[in-house]
Amino acid sequence: MHEREREELVERLVQWGYLSKRDIIDAFKKVPRHEFIPENIRDYAYADQPLSIGHGQTISAPSMIAIMLESLDLKVGQKVLEVGTGSGYNAALIAEIVGQKGKVFSIERINELADFGRANLDRTGYGWVHVVVGDGTCGYEKEAPWNRILVTACTPKLPEPLLKQLKVKGKLGAPVGQHYMFQTWMVAEKRAKGELKIEERGGCSFVPLVGEYGWKAED
Ligand code: SAM
Repeated sequence: MHEREREELVERLVQWGYLSKRDIIDAFKKVPRHEFIPENIRDYAYADQPLSIGHGQTISAPSMIAIMLESLDLKVGQKVLEVGTGSGYNAALIAEIVGQKGKVFSIERINELADFGRANLDRTGYGWVHVVVGDGTCGYEKEAPWNRILVTACTPKLPEPLLKQLKVKGKLGAPVGQHYMFQTWMVAEKRAKGELKIEERGGCSFVPLVGEYGWKAED
């Protein structure tokens, strides 16, 4: 039942121009999104809309996730850090694309969501993704540098530690802007000598990135 719904969602995302890269299309077809959604709202798993995962947080709409992943040029074998594990769905897609020759770490500040994401990843065969509890605005120095960093909550500016932990030729994608509005999906690429090439890839709306280099909890 869910397979047909998933196929139809992917067909729509391709038709609407959100998905074009083969490896990302295949990942969307394979990863069972409904397994990452709280049971009481699973019927909406294949609608193109963000959904609540509790603790005031959301899993982004599939079209938004497609925009994020298409902008990052992920490749097999890369080492990737995701900031904001939430349900674990995005991390599973990344894992599917980079494969087990790569490494995927995902960092989440809310304990209960880290547990939720980890359980979903384990159950769906992506238990090799490392879920860490902590403030992702500081990155994850222990495993740096990264080929790719994907931030899934909105930051007032690109966090300095994340830019530092990026490899040369590495790319970081993040929503930058205000709380819930006037946000832009930005992609920064680190050039030789550490210069950054920054591109703006359109408007978006995310929950806030709360931490030392993001929003303060009381903001
Ligand atoms: N990627 C997730 C998924 O696939 O379900 C959705 C992420 S949700 C839009 C944003 C997440 O970022 C929330 O789970 C939130 O708790 C988390 N977050 C916010 N600030 C954070 C921080 N400083 N470090 C780590 N996670 C953070």
